[in-house]
This record gives sequence, structure tokens and C-alpha cells, in this order.
Amino acid sequence: MDRWIEVDLAKLTHNFRLIRQYVAPEIKILAVVKADGYGHGLVGVGKHFASLGADYLGVTEIAEGVMLREAGISVPILIFAPFLAEDLSRLAQYDLTATISSLAMLKSLGEADPPFKCHLKLETGLGRTGFSLNDLSEGIIQLGNYPQITVEGVYTHLATAMWKNNQYVKEQMAVFEQGVQLLETSGYKNLLKHAANSAALIKYPNYHLDMVRVGTILYGQEGGAYQRQLGGALQDSWCLKSRITAIEYLPKGHGVGYERAFITKRPTKIAIVPVGYSHGLGIEPIMRTRKLKDLLKVLAKTLLRYANHNRMQLYGQINHQRAPIVGKIGMQLAMIDITDVAEATVGDTVILPARRTLIDPTIVKIYLDEEKINHNAQKI
Ligand SMILES: *Cc1c(COP(=O)(O)O)cnc(C)c1O
Repeated sequence: MDRWIEVDLAKLTHNFRLIRQYVAPEIKILAVVKADGYGHGLVGVGKHFASLGADYLGVTEIAEGVMLREAGISVPILIFAPFLAEDLSRLAQYDLTATISSLAMLKSLGEADPPFKCHLKLETGLGRTGFSLNDLSEGIIQLGNYPQITVEGVYTHLATAMWKNNQYVKEQMAVFEQGVQLLETSGYKNLLKHAANSAALIKYPNYHLDMVRVGTILYGQEGGAYQRQLGGALQDSWCLKSRITAIEYLPKGHGVGYERAFITKRPTKIAIVPVGYSHGLGIEPIMRTRKLKDLLKVLAKTLLRYANHNRMQLYGQINHQRAPIVGKIGMQLAMIDITDVAEATVGDTVILPARRTLIDPTIVKIYLDEEKINHNAQKI
């Protein structure tokens, strides 16, 4: 195998249990497995979290829900995002729970035949999808005409849960509370209410409501950051690996790769690894920055990268030793300076740094649990 992602199921179990213990037992847990399970493989982690007792799974699109059902998963699956009317028949067919987030969506779903379940999404300040309070009043009236739609829950999504300042979260939750009141006085009494993502789950225990929707921290991405609250460190469950497919020897002063972006400073041993930017290696999203300070950070990083500064250096790991990735990362190949790695040879395994949600989802996943670790060690 040329490249693969190792997913450590024992670590996912550890993270799930830490979170399960932190959240009161009567509160449900929705495990978010969108975007190929945050790079871990949609079906692989979907099955795992269902087996650990996740009450719901959450995905963005109907197609993701269909894949989970086709893999035999039977826990409730909530689809977060709006979808086109043409995809609607698959909701009932695969027993998926839709999110209805606008009057237009309610109308198009209401005019369809098959019965289905939904959660209503309220727009409380994220500025993305959801009913405003005005539209919700109208929506409640409309719902009376559509007996085939069962409303099981109501939720919202927070824009600033990661901030220290809690003012905007409070404002959003106040709007949400008004929406819930409106539903309750209209007879929708026992709805499942939920608002908290990972950051809110940790920071706002009073907003756990009936269910939390947890993604990021399930996969251990924040490492030890929440150790104090959770009573233990989250563990990183994801690792991109490849193997050295060739080794080249270059003299001092030789360029490595396109545009000679790296020039050897000594006789150099270079490992060729079959992973490049088309697989997601070296890719980082450049998001629109909110503050001038953040823009300056992005610019500083770009400059440091230009100057080949140590802080921006990416490293692979071979035989437990760190080795710098040198030159421009190619479409499907990268070069690693292994001059200082004792006895590295063709076929050796390399651990590569990458952003898990930016990695090509077609890369094979290998799920490690205690039994399989030995088995895979032999195979690879
Ligand atoms: C992605 C997502 C989550 C999970 O967010 P994390 O910050 O990764 O925990 C929760 N709710 C909705 C609607 C989402 O889209």
C-alpha cells in the first residue's frame, strides 16, 4: 500500500467515554460524522460511535446518511443541511431525519407524500440557515397542514462558542429560548432541544439541553486543551502514513523539485514519498480573516514560509526520527531529507503531517483496535 490513514478506534472509544462521562447521563449524544467522519471514514466511525452508544449520528447531506444506512447502521441520523426537493424521496426510504430550516423547505417537503421525521432549525445569530422567529410562527401554522411530517426536535447552531466572550452566545440562546417557547405554546411540547457543539459542550454546561452535537473533540483534535474539564486528555485518533518508494542522492548545492525551492547545503539523501497536494499534503485553508490581527498572522506565516523559516517547516517521521519535507510538494509526490535518518530504506513507513479534513477521502483507512494492530503491522 502506498498511502493510508490509520484510525485508532481505542482512542476514539477513550474520547467518546470521556465526553459521555462529562455530559449528564440523561442528555443524549449526537456524534457528528460529516466530512468523511472528519477524515476518519464515514462508515467506519459511524459504526464505531453507534456501537459505543451514540444516540444519534449527524451528517451534512442526505448522501452521507444513505451510506450509513447502507452499512447497516440503525441509530437515528440527522441531516443538518438544506437539500433539493429531488432528493426528498430518500429521506423516507432510508429513515433519515431531515432538518427543516425555512418556510420554502417546509412547503416543498410538505407537498411530498411519504411520511418523515424532522428537527426544526432556528436562526438565532449564526447567519446561515434556520427559521427566524417570524417565520417560525408562520411555519407552525403551515405544519398543521402537513400531518405526514413529524417534528421530533428543535435546534440552533452557535457562531462564537469558541470565544472567551460569552455575550453573543447568550444572545443566541435567548432567541432560541423564545423559539422553543413559541413551539411549546403551540403544542410542540416534548421536542428534543439542542445547541451545543464541541466548544459549547465544554464551556457552557448549562446549554447542553437535551442533546449535544459533538465532532471536533470526539476525534481528539484539541488534545489536552480540555483535560481539566473532562478529567483526562483527549487522544488523537488519526494518522496519515505512506512509504518511501525511492531514494536519491544529491550533491551539495543541488535544487530539489520544482523551481529549485530548496537547495541542498550538503550531500543529501532524499526519500521520495507518493503523497502530494492532490492528496491534501501541505494544504491549508486560507479563510477570510475577521480582524486585522488575524490577517497579519496569515501574512506573517506566508512570509516565514517564503523565507523557509523553521517554524513553517513540515516534517515527516521515519523510524521514529523527524525528517524535513523539502522543496515544493508536488501533485502526487513529496521529498524528504533523510540524510540524518539512520538506515532509512525503500519500503520504510513514513508518518506525514496533514489536516485531516482536507485529506482526499478516497485514501484507504485502516482501523486499529487491539486485535488488528498486529495483523496490520505484518501486512504493511
Ligand atoms: C459540524 C457541526 C457540529 C459539530 O461541531 P464541532 O465543533 O466539530 O463539535 C455540530 N452541529 C452542526 C450543525 C454542525 O454542522
